[in-house]
Amino acid sequence: MKIVEVLIEYANYSLDRPFSYIYKGNKKVDIGFRVLTKFNNREIVGYVVNTYESDKTIEQLEEELGFKIGEIIDVIDDEPLLSDDLLKLADQVADYYIAPKISVLQSMLPPSLSPRKSALKKPKIAYDQYVKVINKDESGLTDKQIELLRLLSTEEKVLKKEIKSKSVLDKLIEYERVEIVLVEKRRLAIPNYEYIAPPKLTNEQQGVIDEINSSDDLVYLLEGVTGSGKTEVYLSLSEQILKEGKSVLMLVPEISLTPMMMEYFLRRFENNVAILHSELTPAEKYDEYRKIANGECHVVVGARSAIFAPLKNIGLIILDEEHVESYKQDTTPFYHAREVAIMRGKMHKAKVILGSATPSLESRARAQKNIYHLLLLTNRVNNKQLPQTTIVNLGDYRNIDNNSYIFSKRLRAEISGVLSRKEQAILLINRRGFSTSVSCRKCGHIFKCPTCDIALTYHKSDNMLKCHHCDYVTKMPESCPECGSNYIMKTGFGTERIEDEVNRLFPEARTLRLDSDSAKIRTKIPTIIEQFRRKEADILIGTQMIAKGHDFPDVTLVGVVLADIGLSMPSFRSNERAFQLITQAVGRSGRKDKNGIAIIQTYMPNNYAITMAARQNYELFYRKEMNYRHLQSYPPYTYLASITLAGKNEDAVVLGMVNLIDILNNELGDEAQVLGPTVPYIPYEGDNFLRTALVKFKNYKIVQPVLKKIVSVYGAKSQIHLSINIDPYNF
Ligand code: ADP
Ligand code: ZN
Ligand code: ZN
Repeated sequence: MKIVEVLIEYANYSLDRPFSYIYKGNKKVDIGFRVLTKFNNREIVGYVVNTYESDKTIEQLEEELGFKIGEIIDVIDDEPLLSDDLLKLADQVADYYIAPKISVLQSMLPPSLSPRKSALKKPKIAYDQYVKVINKDESGLTDKQIELLRLLSTEEKVLKKEIKSKSVLDKLIEYERVEIVLVEKRRLAIPNYEYIAPPKLTNEQQGVIDEINSSDDLVYLLEGVTGSGKTEVYLSLSEQILKEGKSVLMLVPEISLTPMMMEYFLRRFENNVAILHSELTPAEKYDEYRKIANGECHVVVGARSAIFAPLKNIGLIILDEEHVESYKQDTTPFYHAREVAIMRGKMHKAKVILGSATPSLESRARAQKNIYHLLLLTNRVNNKQLPQTTIVNLGDYRNIDNNSYIFSKRLRAEISGVLSRKEQAILLINRRGFSTSVSCRKCGHIFKCPTCDIALTYHKSDNMLKCHHCDYVTKMPESCPECGSNYIMKTGFGTERIEDEVNRLFPEARTLRLDSDSAKIRTKIPTIIEQFRRKEADILIGTQMIAKGHDFPDVTLVGVVLADIGLSMPSFRSNERAFQLITQAVGRSGRKDKNGIAIIQTYMPNNYAITMAARQNYELFYRKEMNYRHLQSYPPYTYLASITLAGKNEDAVVLGMVNLIDILNNELGDEAQVLGPTVPYIPYEGDNFLRTALVKFKNYKIVQPVLKKIVSVYGAKSQIHLSINIDPYNF
C-alpha cells in the first residue's frame, strides 16, 4: 500500500506538518507533485513531501498514527514542480521567516502551478474579451459598481482581464450596464525590439566591473548617483555571465513602473529573455515559467517573486533600486527578495549586485562593515551635472503666490519657463486624489472609513470618496449625514488637485497624471509613461510612482509640491523614505543634453532629509540618519520582528498578547527588548481585532528558537490567529 505524506494548502501554523494519505491509483506520484485530496471533508490540494510503501493494513496504520487516513483522489502533476535547489531554498526561507512551508511554496510558484485548489481551474481563453459600456444609468447600483462604471465610461477600450475587481464587473454585466465583446486572442506580446550594440563604457563603469571580476565576494552594493549608468553595468556583466554559459536573474521593483529595464534587456539579449511579474495573466506567467524551467531562456527580468524563477546555473543576481519596499512581501511569508537573493546566490555561487542611488540604510551599513562589497559611481554619464536644486520655504509669505496656494512664485515661474522652452516638467505630490480630508463646516463631522476609521479622500474624476487603506468607496454626499448641512469642506490636496491647478494656471499645458488610480487598469501605467516619453504631454503629475528609475530625456524641471508628506508618519523609516523619494525625484531632471533644476516646496526647510536630498548627498544623509537610528536602537543597529494576534474577541486577543509578551520576556531577558501590546495604526482586519508586539534584538540566532516556540504554543489556537513578520516595514 502506498502512503503519501502531503502538506495541506492552508497556510496555518497549526497545519504546518505532513499529513498521511493512501494512494490506490496507478499514476506516478513522488516528492514535489501536487495531489487532490480531502481535508475536513473539503477537497483541497496537497503538496507531496514524502512517499513510502507499507505492508500494514489500514487499521494498523490508523492505530499507529492515531487518526483516520484519507485517500488521494487524484495526482495532478506528472513531474515535480520544483527542482532540488528551489526546494532547499524553500526550506531556508521558511526557516528564516518562520513561515508555514506551504505559504513559501505558494509564493514561489506561478498561480497555475501553485499548490492550492483555486489553481486547478485554468480557463482556456481563445480570444480577448473587451468591456463595452452600453448604459450609463447609475440607479440601483452600489457605490463600487458606480465607481467602475464611471471609470469605464472614460476609457475607449478596456480588456476584461485588465479590470482587477471581477465581482463588481460581473454585477455590471448582470445589470446590463456593460457587455463583453470578443476579439481574437493575443498572447503576451513582447515587442520585437531591435538589437542595440553596447556603448563604450565610461572609466567609472569599467572600474566597477573590473573590481567585481577581480573579487571573490558574494554581495556587492552598487551605489551610483542618479544617471550614473548603473543599467549599463548590469547589461555588461550579464553579457559576460551568459558567455560563461551561466544565467542571469534581473529584479526590478515593479515592471509596470520600469518598462525601460525590460526594454534594455530585450534589446541586448533578445529572445534569451523571459519576463515574470504580477501584471501578467496566469496563462502568460505559466508560459514564461515553463520557458525558463525548460532552459529556453537564460535571462529573467522580473519583480519580487521572480527571485524564485526556475533558472539553472545562475551566475548573477541583480536587484535594481534595492531600497524599494515592494521587494518585501507584506503577507505571509513576509519575505524580502534581497535576503532570498543572497540565499540563492550562496547556493549557486552567483554574485549578487544590489544597485541604488539611495541604498537602504541596512544595505549601506552592511557595506560599511564589509559584509557587502561597496562600489561607487559618483558621476553622471558624460559628467552631466546633477540638477540645481532650490528649497522654497512655504512658511515664508514672501515666497507665496497671491493667485495660488499650491505653487510658490518660484515654482510657478519655472513651470512657465519650461513650457515656453517646450521642455518637460515632473510634479511630485505623494498623495493621490483631490483633497485629503472632507468635513462638514457646520457640525465638524469628518467623513471617515467605517472599517479603518481614517479620513476619506475626495476623488474628483469620479466624484467619489475613497479609503486609501482598504478598498471602501462611497459617492460624495451632497449634504452632511449628521446635521444635513450643505457646507462641505474639502482640505488638503493630492495629485488630482495639482492637475486642476496646472490646468487653471497654464491652460495651454498638456498634462498626464500617474498614481495608483491609474493602476486600476493594468496597461495604463506603461502607456502613460510611454506617452510622456514621446512628449505627448508637457507636465507629468504623480505620486512616488514617477520617481522610480525613469529616464525622460527632455525633463528639465522637477517640482516637489510638498516634501513634508510622509515625514510626519509614525515610523522610524519616515526620514529615509522622504530622502529616497525626493532624491529619486530630483534625479529625473536634466538627464540628457540639457541641464535640469529641481524646486522643493516645504514647511520644514531645515529638516535634514530634505536638505540632504536637495544636495543629492546620500553619504551625509546616511551618517546623520545612522546617528539617529543608533540613539533610538533601530535597524540597522538592531533587528526587528513583529508579532500580531488577530481575533474576533478583543479581550482574548489582548490577554493572548499579554501572555505572549511574558513568554518573550522570560525567555529572552536582556537579549531583546519587547514593546507592546500596541494597537496597530489600522486596528482592524475585517472584523478581527489586532494587537502587535515588536521585538528588538541584536542576535537572531537567539531569538529565532524562541519565536518558534511561540509558534508551537500560539499557532495551534483556534480563536486567535498568529502571524510573525521578520524584518517588518510596517507595524
Ligand atoms: P541610472 O540607472 O544610474 O540612474 P541609467 O542607467 O539610466 O542611469 O543611465 C543614464 C543614461 O546614460 C541612459 O540614458 C543611458 O543610456 C546612458 N548611458 C549609460 N552608460 C553609457 C555609456 N557608457 N555611454 C553613453 N551613454 C550611457
Ligand atoms: Zn454636519
Ligand atoms: Zn478603509
